[in-house]
Amino acid sequence: MTKPIGSKCNIDCTYCYYLSKQPLLEHSKRQDARFSEEMLEHYIKSYIEQQNFPEIVFHWQGGEPTLLGVKFFRDVVRLQKKYCPEGVKIENNLQTNGTLLTDEWGKFLSKNRFLVGLSLDGPELIHNAHRTNRSGKGTFRQTMKGLEVLHKHKVNFATLTCINNVSGASPIEVYRFLRDEVKSPQMQFIPIVETKSFRKTAPQCWSSEDQVYQGMPEADPSHLQSIVEPWCVSAEQWGRFLIEVFDEWFTYDVGQVHIPYFEAWIESWMGRVNPLCTLGPMCGKGLAIEHNGDVFSCEHYVYPEYRLGNIEEKTLEQMQFSSEQIKFGYAKEATLPRQCRECDYQFACFGECPKNRFLRTLDGEPGLNYLCAGWKQFYRHADPYISMLVSSMGYAVNKTLNAQAMKIRFK
Ligand code: SF4
Ligand code: SF4
Repeated sequence: MTKPIGSKCNIDCTYCYYLSKQPLLEHSKRQDARFSEEMLEHYIKSYIEQQNFPEIVFHWQGGEPTLLGVKFFRDVVRLQKKYCPEGVKIENNLQTNGTLLTDEWGKFLSKNRFLVGLSLDGPELIHNAHRTNRSGKGTFRQTMKGLEVLHKHKVNFATLTCINNVSGASPIEVYRFLRDEVKSPQMQFIPIVETKSFRKTAPQCWSSEDQVYQGMPEADPSHLQSIVEPWCVSAEQWGRFLIEVFDEWFTYDVGQVHIPYFEAWIESWMGRVNPLCTLGPMCGKGLAIEHNGDVFSCEHYVYPEYRLGNIEEKTLEQMQFSSEQIKFGYAKEATLPRQCRECDYQFACFGECPKNRFLRTLDGEPGLNYLCAGWKQFYRHADPYISMLVSSMGYAVNKTLNAQAMKIRFK
């Protein structure tokens, strides 16, 4: 996950987890918070050299990467061609809020086959509840103009929809808007979860005394003394969101609308490892690189405690396979609380992202996922339908992949 402009953005969403990185990583003190030409070339060259796959994918994210202008990405493509070995295919994914997209961008993205992730939270009122500019005005209209550009130039895109306290309350409205008006070919839903201390305190560096029990009122974002920010989705809301969207999708849209969560769960129910890192047994495969060359364990762990080094000092391979990163990767499974190990749905959930594991289980063990109640509610509801889908595809349902089975496989 490459962040060539760090956390700089032209808008100011309430729930952004990245804008607060500026003081944390002292970005504001740097004169030019963006990849320099030399850094860009060095990065592209080493990223390509250190992979041995016939397809190499670059992920460009922000902040808002389109602030860098089309020229920056022309250079990206030029450098990728310069260092691309024969027979290797290079792909680019670009995540954007869409507000700066013009015809020039449309032509460029289409010609160079970029896959664009467009951040769009739903219809106008829902989108504008949190996706605002610096003067507090909603950005819906500008984002929809960006969407027009993508359609006009036939750019391949997916929508990235943040599920927060507002969008989480209207699942069907959000889903139908994305399906019928946006004509989103792929919908990614991202639950918004941040503790009140997220601006300064890295995940897993929380004091265990701050971890409240599952089900306590302080675990709900609407409570005055909540441990999470008020704009977060609640566990219950998240479960209901998934259930309502799943039911609509299962009834009308299977095979037509792509929803990575649902498609990945079909794999889980077939006994395979879930391809999404959040629902699989391991972390650590997606490093984050900042505009100054600093590399972190994951884009959700861009905190000084999780800095692995800088591409000017170490190779990406050294950082990817460093003892810190290997430990980080295995910790996802190793730190599962008993409640997860004994859960019927561990095979599909694996305690979800460790960033969100800050509750105590009912018997007091720290490290339970904040959304656990919602995940479980969804799994119980969807289980018979996903099983039916798997069987109708001619596969056996296999729900035995758990931490124990993974240990045997890893040996
Ligand atoms: S910390 Fe979360 S987002 Fe990062 S690799 Fe692990 S599961 Fe994925
Ligand atoms: S549903 Fe809850 S208990 Fe089960 S694995 Fe997921 S987080 Fe753990």
